[in-house]
Amino acid sequence: MSLAHGHDLIAIPGPSPVPARVLNAAHRASPDIYAEPLAQLNLQVMAQLKRLAGTSQHLAPYIGNGHAGWEAAAANLFDPGDAALVVTCGHFGRSWADMLQASGVAVERLDFGNLPADPQRLADRLAQDRQGRIRAVVLCQTDTASATSADIPGIRAAMGDHPALLVVDAIASLGCSPMRMDDWGVDVLISASQKGLMCLPGTAFVWFSDRAAARRRARVSPYWDWHARAGAEALWRFWGGTPPVQQIYALSEALTMILDEEGLEAVWSRHTRLARTVWAAVDAWSAGGTGIRLPVADPAARAASVTAVLMPRAEDLRAWVTRECGVTLGVGLGAPDPTAALRIAHMGHCNAAMVMGALGAVQAGLTALRIPHGGGALEAAAASIASSA
Ligand SMILES: *Cc1c(COP(=O)(O)O)cnc(C)c1O
Repeated sequence: MSLAHGHDLIAIPGPSPVPARVLNAAHRASPDIYAEPLAQLNLQVMAQLKRLAGTSQHLAPYIGNGHAGWEAAAANLFDPGDAALVVTCGHFGRSWADMLQASGVAVERLDFGNLPADPQRLADRLAQDRQGRIRAVVLCQTDTASATSADIPGIRAAMGDHPALLVVDAIASLGCSPMRMDDWGVDVLISASQKGLMCLPGTAFVWFSDRAAARRRARVSPYWDWHARAGAEALWRFWGGTPPVQQIYALSEALTMILDEEGLEAVWSRHTRLARTVWAAVDAWSAGGTGIRLPVADPAARAASVTAVLMPRAEDLRAWVTRECGVTLGVGLGAPDPTAALRIAHMGHCNAAMVMGALGAVQAGLTALRIPHGGGALEAAAASIASSA
């Protein structure tokens, strides 16, 4: 008989669990959108979002998901035929490259499969571009499909004095891993509300540097124009029309939890410690050549918000833990064999008990389905939590 009744555990890399406090903050009728209190709250949220990204430069908010953030950035950065070098380390980087290409950008891919980027290869490629034709280097900080994490300062250093803008997707990493946009020299940063930000889906953000602002393309439709939003005074102009009223309350609550209550450094460290807990369990399951393993060897190049696991019969296992335990794990998106890969998210509003719950369900599934696995995974996970306490 299924033991799935009770509180569902959704361990997928977005949308991530929304705290009850954030839902409650959003649960209200719309106030007068022309009155001062909401306009003030919006300004406060914009300032919080800049703190979150580590920037004092510009921010344009959009109603839309992460894909809308990609489009918004592209509309300001590229005319048809402009060259972009897209560094791809997984499914999300590859689909971003596809989107840019479909909008007329001359995309060149520096492809690392599902593995982390090697900054040296980027440096070598840019060194060949003597005329500085490449307008932007584009990459994901965390590719959520491969669960790799790019070394952004290393990438920036590899760019040397090449004039390209550095454009980073932090949709699965902002609020989970360090981001210091100004210190690191990121020119354009893209994120969305429903992952590390612990909010409802439906808002995307594009932060941009003075350098990027000065190089915006001349013809941008008024709706996507980042200057119109970043330089707005009236509330409706920030959002290109009706503001997402309830989401503004949700963002204010969530960002207060992250920035002022737990604290950004503590939030980052919690994500790292929860990630290590998952890695400890997978390492134990992999012992003895079971075929269960982490695809990214270097822990420093693994995401803090989601872990990809290669595992024989992963698809069967995912179905089993959902049906029998009420745990939903991520699909093996972009893996060579998606039926033999899964992802465990530890993103946003996530604690040690949730991670232990997900790992415990996987342990039960491996046992029930007789998938060969090494022992001691839950002990190893618990020891990881104990040692980092
Ligand atoms: C989720 C995600 C996206 C897409 O965001 P949507 O809100 O689903 O459009 C893009 N890039 C990365 C790295 C993501 O994790």
